Amino acid sequence: MSTGSCLCGTVRYEIDGPFNAMVNCHCSMCRKEHGSVFVTWAVAPAEGFRWLSGEDNVGTFASSPNGARSFCRTCGSPLPTVMSGMAVVAAPAGNLEGDPGLRPQTHIFVGSRLPGFEISDDLPQFAEAPPEWGLPDVPRRPVESREGATPGSCLCGAMAWEVEGAPALMMNCHCSRCRRARGAAFATNAFYRLDQFRWLRGEAMADSYKVPDAQYFTQSFCRECGSPVPRMLEKFNRAMVPVGAFDADPGARPGAHIFVGSKADWDLITDDIPQFQEMPPRG
Ligand SMILES: [Zn+2]
Ligand SMILES: [Zn+2]
Ligand SMILES: [Zn+2]
Repeated sequence: MSTGSCLCGTVRYEIDGPFNAMVNCHCSMCRKEHGSVFVTWAVAPAEGFRWLSGEDNVGTFASSPNGARSFCRTCGSPLPTVMSGMAVVAAPAGNLEGDPGLRPQTHIFVGSRLPGFEISDDLPQFAEAPPEWGLPDVPRRPVESREGATPGSCLCGAMAWEVEGAPALMMNCHCSRCRRARGAAFATNAFYRLDQFRWLRGEAMADSYKVPDAQYFTQSFCRECGSPVPRMLEKFNRAMVPVGAFDADPGARPGAHIFVGSKADWDLITDDIPQFQEMPPRG
């Protein structure tokens, strides 16, 4: 049996298991809902799933005619989705507690992954999903872009933004807060100067949740769909942007894996980007 929870702890859930699949999904809906370049889902029979607390705090967004995505209304963390047609529950592995016992087995919807972000392991890749799973194709929204700018948007489309130029920093963070906030193996965030960032619409749709015992850790998210959205760090002249939500190649690539010392057991890093147990040394 496994338990999981959102970042703020209001919503908790339990899954009897056993988990029968673990897949890395690169589809644009998952990228936006989690703000991560891909999302690892742990799949188990639906009858073994139950909410333990906070069920009335679970928001849903119908991302396709076939299903709704769930998130905590207080902190924005993505939560499990029951796919009733398939009688399974898909849990975002990043907010499971403990080891689900499986390791990622496949990459799906590789055809809609973020351009330029290559896969470095040898697992099988599917452009969409394996046909026998019966998953619908992912709707492709037309990308609104301006010459010289990289656009990004949330899953429901109410919030949109763009950045210009290269970020000062782009990193994959594997810390336990990022994992629960994003429901993914790690959060990929890019940091731009404030003058490189511009809201296109929906800025007022953002809610945010600060972890009470953290100095800074705050998750900003769209209150309609739960997607992580950019956050302005005025004190540092930086806009922190969730990389998975970009609608085009931002040009830059992550320069480091940080807080690898607290990564999940199932999170297997296979690329050659430098790794740091916590933060990289200053300099
Ligand atoms: Zn929460
Ligand atoms: Zn997906
Ligand atoms: Zn939204």
